[in-house]
This record gives sequence, structure tokens and C-alpha cells, in this order.
Amino acid sequence: TSFSEIDFSSALIENIKTCKFVKPTPIQRYAIPVAMAGRDLMACAQTGSGKTAAFCFPIISGILRRDHKKSPAGIVTEDGGLSLKMACPLALILSPTRELSCQIHEEAKKFSYKTGLKVGVAYGGAPIVQQFHSLEKGVDILVATPGRLVDMIERARVSLRNVKYLALDEADRMLDMGFEPQVRKLVQQMEMPPAGVRQTMLFSATFPVEIQKLASDFLSNYIFLAA
Ligand code: AMP
Repeated sequence: TSFSEIDFSSALIENIKTCKFVKPTPIQRYAIPVAMAGRDLMACAQTGSGKTAAFCFPIISGILRRDHKKSPAGIVTEDGGLSLKMACPLALILSPTRELSCQIHEEAKKFSYKTGLKVGVAYGGAPIVQQFHSLEKGVDILVATPGRLVDMIERARVSLRNVKYLALDEADRMLDMGFEPQVRKLVQQMEMPPAGVRQTMLFSATFPVEIQKLASDFLSNYIFLAA
């Protein structure tokens, strides 16, 4: 199989070629068709397996295919007389660390080139104000660490009400780092009315009971890919 046989938009196919990806890796070969069919999934994936593309390609393809209303300008809200622009991403990718978030952000930008989709990033340990400013320009796909994102939501800079695609990357590491309360809080935000249907993909290297519990709480009728 090659990527050109998958029903991706021509811009995405071009970007995959530019990245010099010829053959899908095993995780991509199994996860992409499942995700493209709209199913929730939990997948076993190690670093270096190509998991970033495995969740990014179906997200990009899904947003382009369904022609969701993009939200480049965000929503303007009032806070004590100040008007704030709230970013309302269509897709959220959660990852445990700043380093991993930056890597995913860089890859997702390459994959989204010339698609018109905007990719943003939010992580802790760096000034929040600069991140607000770049998100204000609009973001369709947001890559974030859980703690920083909770902070941004509490400050009314980001809303998860439009999220249609959620990817949890290195879910076991997120739990090991103590992010479970934040992750649960974020998912709760996505489930408040008028939330529509959401597609969720969970990637993890290990599957302790805590991960299985997250999967049963966050995923619906999911497929488990143990590569
Ligand atoms: P990841 O596991 O997502 O961090 O990917 C590991 C590395 O493999 C990254 O540098 C990717 O750009 C690269 N990669 C991902 N998928 C492919 C592919 N199908 N062919 C060649 N390289 C790939």
C-alpha cells in the first residue's frame, strides 16, 4: 500500500510527498483506515513509530473533507470591558511535554501546508501571552500540554466547544506525569452542550488499568490496535 491509494485530499498527498514518506509505517497502515472511517481507536505506539502522522493525516483529511466551519478569527468575548478573542479549534492534540508538543506542531504544520488549516501550539514553561497572541489569529488544529491548556480555558482564551477530533498522544506518560485531572477536565469541556459528535484517538505505549479506564470513559465503540 502507498499513501496515494488512500482517499486524502490532493494538498495532503502533496505534503506527504514533500516529507518523502513513501510507504506507511505499520501503525499508519492499521490506524489510518480505521480513523478515516470515523471510528474511535486506541493504539499501541512507541516513539518513532510514525504515530504523529497516524493521527494527523485523518484529522487534516476529516476537517477538509467535511468542510467544517473554520474559525480563523475565533470568538470575541467580553471580560471586564476587555474584548478577548477566543480560539475555537476543531481538533485538539494533547501531549505530555513541551518538547513533544513542539515536535507534533512542526510536523502538523508540514502536513497542513497549503490546505488553509492553521495549526497552533500551547505549552507550559514559556510566557503565556505570546501564545495567546499567536492563537488569536485563529487555530483549526491545536497541539497542547494539558496544564497550559486548562489555564488558557480558565482565562477564556480557548474554547473546546467546536472540537470534533481529539488525539491523546503518549497517554500513559500524561498519566505518569500526573495530568489525569487536567485531561479529564478538558474532555468534560468538550462534552458540554452543544457539543456534537467527537472522534477520539488514544495512543499509548503501555496499557495499565488507568489507561483502559480512560479509554472506556473517553472513547465510544472503539477499535484497539495492538501492533
Ligand atoms: P513519530 O513516531 O511520529 O515521532 O515519527 C518518527 C519519525 O518518522 C518522524 O521523523 C517522521 O517524520 C518519520 N515518519 C513518519 N512516518 C513516516 C513514513 N511513512 N515514512 C518515512 N518516515 C516517516
